[in-house]
Amino acid sequence: MNQASTSKKALIIGGGIAGPVTAMALERAGISPIVYEAYDESAGLAVGAFLTVAVNGLDALRVIDGAHQPVLAAGFPSRNIEFFSGTGKHLGSVPIGGTLSDGTVTHTIKRADLYRAVHDEAVRRGIRIEHGKRLVDAEGRPDGGVVARFEDGTRAGGDLLIGADGIHSATRRIIDPDAPEPRYTGLGNIGGFTRNASIDAEPGLYNMVFGKRAFFGYTVSPSGEIWWFANPPSARELARAELAATTTGQWKQRLIELFSGDATLAVDIIRATTHELAGTNQYDMPSVPTWHKGSMILIGDAAHAVSPASGQGASMAIEDAVVLARCLRDLDDTYEAFAAYERLRRERVERVVAHGAKFSASKAAGPVARVLRDLMLPRILKHQANSGRSDSMEWLFNYRIDWDEKVAA
Ligand SMILES: Cc1cc2nc3c(=O)[nH]c(=O)nc-3n(C[C@H](O)[C@H](O)[C@H](O)COP(=O)(O)OP(=O)(O)OC[C@H]3O[C@@H](n4cnc5c(N)ncnc54)[C@H](O)[C@@H]3O)c2cc1C
Repeated sequence: MNQASTSKKALIIGGGIAGPVTAMALERAGISPIVYEAYDESAGLAVGAFLTVAVNGLDALRVIDGAHQPVLAAGFPSRNIEFFSGTGKHLGSVPIGGTLSDGTVTHTIKRADLYRAVHDEAVRRGIRIEHGKRLVDAEGRPDGGVVARFEDGTRAGGDLLIGADGIHSATRRIIDPDAPEPRYTGLGNIGGFTRNASIDAEPGLYNMVFGKRAFFGYTVSPSGEIWWFANPPSARELARAELAATTTGQWKQRLIELFSGDATLAVDIIRATTHELAGTNQYDMPSVPTWHKGSMILIGDAAHAVSPASGQGASMAIEDAVVLARCLRDLDDTYEAFAAYERLRRERVERVVAHGAKFSASKAAGPVARVLRDLMLPRILKHQANSGRSDSMEWLFNYRIDWDEKVAA
């Protein structure tokens, strides 16, 4: 295997999902990574409830010497979603991806556990992750390299810088001060866990309800814990201070009001949840025009945040990481490697963002659109579930990365 860039040093900004996975992939490609994460070890872990890592994301992780194993160990298999209307009408069932050759299917995992799994696996492989390092600026060096400057006054130099710093990326603004801001989707996000309600459901099966006033979803873990989320609509993006000031009691009251007219278990589940709840706004990034400049590039949510409705944000970040490592392995010229990466990734990730945006919009439908949606959805879901059809979801889930295939300029 040609490892043209053996001596290169990569500065990776962000220790979320894309950061540690990129570091592991680069290590495999013969490039030396260091990850710089803004928060201390425990921060970030409390944010968000749970997510799915789809088969395409798991397969990409597997490429880097079985890095999917800790993720599988921390999550549980999730094969299907059952959709219902607020009246309780069954709208259809869709698989969340197929089955990999070794029998692996899409997994559901607590967000904190996913972060911990990829972080700890990277550290176990000897990768250096520095915490408390918030990037504030970066500039190219005359020799083609790059210098990063952190909030604590320290600096770091490398041959290239990879911005894996999430949807509110500082790297994105450094690469292009005119880069677009994240787009608010009109929905909020809130989720939790409870063992205090009893539900007779197959573990791992998702039950999602297009309620009259809001969208609700839940699944039951193999240990019997109910994992749930809701998307309360709001025409207005809630200010950070407003979100922080909203108490758990206020969130519960709002959610119970939203779901009380629906034929679902949402109200029981929300009432049974005893831990603190924190709501967030939901965003996506449809198209970021400039992904790279000089020796700096964006990956993951920094380049193309998909709405959580797609269930693919983590998987896209993982795919990005592995593809970028292949490009840097095979193309010694950093610009050529970045251009090849963009060529290989842009169309796919923008298609996933558009797919997620469409699904998000259907969650916030008004009364007329709701009737149409509930009429049309059974047909659409049936088609999506059929493999081989042009409108099936195979394009999304059947994406596989061949690590050994050489990337051409
Ligand atoms: C509620 C919710 C539900 C979701 N559900 C799903 C789902 O079901 N399936 C799915 O695949 N995806 C889901 N997602 C999306 C998924 O979490 C993201 O797409 C994924 O985390 C992107 O990974 P990333 O590494 O690019 O960014 P992040 O995970 O956001 O990581 C970025 C990291 O960079 C750090 N950072 C930020 N700024 C700086 C800086 N200046 N300097 C240094 N470090 C910095 C941050 O602290 C963070 O650790 C969901 C997201 C949310 C919010």
